Amino acid sequence: MNVSNAINASAFLKPSAEKLMTAGIDNPWRESRLLLAHVVGQSYEAIFSDPQLTLTEEQIKHFSNVCERRVQREPLSKIIGQREFWGLEFKVTKDTLDPRPDSETLIEAVISNFPNRAQPLKILDLGTGSGCLLLSLLSEYPNAWGVGVDKSEAAIYIARYNAKVLGFEDQCAFALSDWTQTLLDKFDVIISNPPYIGKTESIGVETFDYDPHQALFGGEDGFDCYRQIIPQLPHFLDPKGMAFLEVGKGQAAKVCEMASNQKLNIIDVYKDLAQIERVVGVNLFSS
Ligand code: GLN
Repeated sequence: MNVSNAINASAFLKPSAEKLMTAGIDNPWRESRLLLAHVVGQSYEAIFSDPQLTLTEEQIKHFSNVCERRVQREPLSKIIGQREFWGLEFKVTKDTLDPRPDSETLIEAVISNFPNRAQPLKILDLGTGSGCLLLSLLSEYPNAWGVGVDKSEAAIYIARYNAKVLGFEDQCAFALSDWTQTLLDKFDVIISNPPYIGKTESIGVETFDYDPHQALFGGEDGFDCYRQIIPQLPHFLDPKGMAFLEVGKGQAAKVCEMASNQKLNIIDVYKDLAQIERVVGVNLFSS
């Protein structure tokens, strides 16, 4: 870096945080710091701890550009290309649904039903996207092995990248598949966070404009993917296996009914932190 042209980084934080705040962005200081950390290629912590941190002319332009994108409501995760989930950092792109904290309810539901972390579970993730659900589970079950499928080739590419960077490459495989179409095996755990937003539901502009529509919308009433997935569960679940499906607000009762119609047993419905029914757990009736 050419030090003579360098300008102290902290001078840029306040105006940028103010700009984000005026644009109605929550946590403007945190987001400015994260954007700055991205621009200088340093950790979030370094932004606090290094008073000598300086920006080059080029970095100043880059920072101004990313702040403007954020003001225009491009999600922070899509700008910096990553999003935290279950304590892990996932690469995300325009082709992958941003992992949401609500989906951590699904991870907790699996853990509460499979308390022995040494179990060599076989896990199937239907509609894996960034791979966040499967890879988070693998981080909890070191002897588990998993398959993630998606019908988006671009998403599979990102899921494979995340598996490699997070160190789970040997514990999983990813395949291009329309749900279970290419599969033959049975699994101990099946998970899915399928697209479940209905046509007439209103969603935030950041989601609508920047998440892949293929990963968001589940047909007219939002239930199309459950109609496809649920009848397949009895064929791909191990007799002692369990499946966990994320659902949208107000969808749990109907998903439970659809599962019961396929002779599946409802283990429980799990609520997220906002007390919204978020995950339906099912297994095969034991005869
Ligand atoms: N399984 C991924 C997630 O939970 C992707 C889900 C999707 O694309 N609908 O974030």
